[in-house]
Amino acid sequence: AATLVTTMAACGDAEKTTDKEAAGGGSAAGALIGITMPTKSSERWIHDGDNLKSQLEGLGYKVDLQYAENDIPTQTQQLDSQITKGAKLLIIASIDGTTLSSQLDNAEAAKIPVIAYDRLIRDSATVDYYATFDNFKVGVQQATSLLTGLGVLKADGSKGDAKGPFNIELFAGSPDDNNATFFFNGAMSILDPYIKDGTLVVKSGQKDFKTVSTLRWDPETAQKRMENLLTSTYKGGVKVNGILSPYDGISIGILSALKSGGYGTDGKYPIVTGQDAELASTKSIIKGEQYSTIYKDTRQLAKVTGEMADAILKGQTPTTNNTTDYDNGKKVVPAQLLQSVIVDKSNYQKELVDSGYYKADQLK
Ligand code: BGC
Repeated sequence: AATLVTTMAACGDAEKTTDKEAAGGGSAAGALIGITMPTKSSERWIHDGDNLKSQLEGLGYKVDLQYAENDIPTQTQQLDSQITKGAKLLIIASIDGTTLSSQLDNAEAAKIPVIAYDRLIRDSATVDYYATFDNFKVGVQQATSLLTGLGVLKADGSKGDAKGPFNIELFAGSPDDNNATFFFNGAMSILDPYIKDGTLVVKSGQKDFKTVSTLRWDPETAQKRMENLLTSTYKGGVKVNGILSPYDGISIGILSALKSGGYGTDGKYPIVTGQDAELASTKSIIKGEQYSTIYKDTRQLAKVTGEMADAILKGQTPTTNNTTDYDNGKKVVPAQLLQSVIVDKSNYQKELVDSGYYKADQLK
């Protein structure tokens, strides 16, 4: 590493080069990169994994790509095995961001750099970089589109004609996923003033993150909670008008509960948000059931993460654009944040089809 640092000094980059980056430098060509993804039960992670793998293979790396079906011991075993196989860098989309400490200690001891992918790994100083979307902003967008759907805001963000009061319910993601808190806090930063002034009424009274969270982002858990809300809170003609949902899978569960509860027979549904522009939910939006989703171009995330990995393995400093927001409890992890887009019936063609994310016939 000492020789390397001298060489780097000549390029004027030495002061930015960490120990692990220097260790990675020079070992780039043909190196093995371990990628661990949470589950195949949601399409986005399949796209993420495929895109990352082909990008890194295109750059000449070997790739070990694993999915853990939301089972934490499976994910820790996969990481152990990648370290044993001699991986030179790990890209991890964690299931629970707090459960990987022994794997991270081993990576640290072997000087293997770690990139947290999409989800921050918490409580460890061993996370080198983080590539993700602006997660707080995702929540802001979800809440904004809920308000637009209800008519409280116009599409251009100005005040709409609808005054309410509207009955709404809140759903959050998995409490062990750092992103879930960011999404929820982002959303509540927009909704809170409307709850305070009575435009929105959370009829069940269930407003705190823990109460409204959905372990492992599980659609059935969300469906059951929505069914319970309908029986406990929405009876005798009282209707729910809008539901803040953090993820398309959860939105599907919520919509099933609404359908069994008698909603939609007139073709009209409460406003239900989402995230990920998954195929089934995009079709549901086109049919007028789900109202909106948040489109995160996972091709872009794979691209910036691949570039990050390549830079680290070549002993360079990867590009980041945020060094303040992602404190994991042990350090502020330098992050590269991408921007997401609200998609509803009015712009799915432009955002999802014209951009090549989906082919038109996939949406039929
Ligand atoms: C991701 C979201 C996804 C959710 C459920 C989050 O960590 O950022 O895009 O909807 O996990 O898979």
